[in-house]
Amino acid sequence: MLEFFSFNVAFRSIYRICLFILLYSVLWMVMTISHTQATIVTSIRPLGFIAAAISDGVMPVEVILPDGSSPHDYSLRPIDVLRLKKADIFIWVGPELESFLSRLVLSMPANRRITLSSLPVVIPLLQKGSKELNKNHEHDITDNRFNRHYHGEYNMHLWLSPNIAEYAAEAIYNHLLEFTPEKKQLLDENLRIFKYFLTKNNKNITKMLTSVRAKGYYVFHDAYGYFEAYYGLTPLGYFTVNPTIQPGAQALHKIRTQLIKKKATCIFAEEQFRPALIRAITRGTNVHIGTLDPLGVGIALDKESYVRFLLQLSNQYISCLKKNI
Ligand SMILES: [Zn+2]
Repeated sequence: MLEFFSFNVAFRSIYRICLFILLYSVLWMVMTISHTQATIVTSIRPLGFIAAAISDGVMPVEVILPDGSSPHDYSLRPIDVLRLKKADIFIWVGPELESFLSRLVLSMPANRRITLSSLPVVIPLLQKGSKELNKNHEHDITDNRFNRHYHGEYNMHLWLSPNIAEYAAEAIYNHLLEFTPEKKQLLDENLRIFKYFLTKNNKNITKMLTSVRAKGYYVFHDAYGYFEAYYGLTPLGYFTVNPTIQPGAQALHKIRTQLIKKKATCIFAEEQFRPALIRAITRGTNVHIGTLDPLGVGIALDKESYVRFLLQLSNQYISCLKKNI
């Protein structure tokens, strides 16, 4: 009895200490956030890469989506709301991708946000979504469960297009120039360097991917269309349009048949999604399993981070596709 009593007292003390640490941490985070200066905030990390290159030495960049999360099923935390509210410039793809931000962002003044998918130079470059995608669209209108996963009519993984990244960089440049006209010289130089790195890197990646360009493969979710079209890769298909929805039995059967016929060299899982399903479907075949990271987890935000991100993704393709089946 006495033992139980002292255990209870000890447990309560630990609980109180933990609670104190938690409250203190939250308070510290809120204070840190409210005391920082003018900031660019982006929804996802790759947009942070582009913003960091253009705003280097002008304004710091913060990213809302934590590493390891996906924009397809993320829920906002109170700290995200604070971060968003104090953003001087907010950059996102648009409500079709980051639906968890729609309500908040659309209530921000228009001159404080850049919506990539509605830039006039970007609209003609948008890739149409797949048939499966349009089927999901009908669910979206009627069923709230699907609404948060809604991709829209177009492929919204725009940051994987080097062309669109360049237009994003120009839009960020123009916004920053309006915000800090006295930094024009620095901003001009940052934009010039970004474009220089991008062009140089594109030539490099094109050369690197030459030997694997004709190799067939499947990706886990339909995210890579812009990258694949730009560098001329040969995808055979994807498991699902939306990574939070399990692929259908028919699609899986079709993929399995192709794997048995040795049509594909690789199947690519993702850092954010590694379903056991991929292992199951490849059982008894010689297909290799690779990993792609469409969000650049762990890449630091600086002048060259966007280029490093593209390079990392290219190497992820190559390290699997170079193998033989
Ligand atoms: Zn996606």
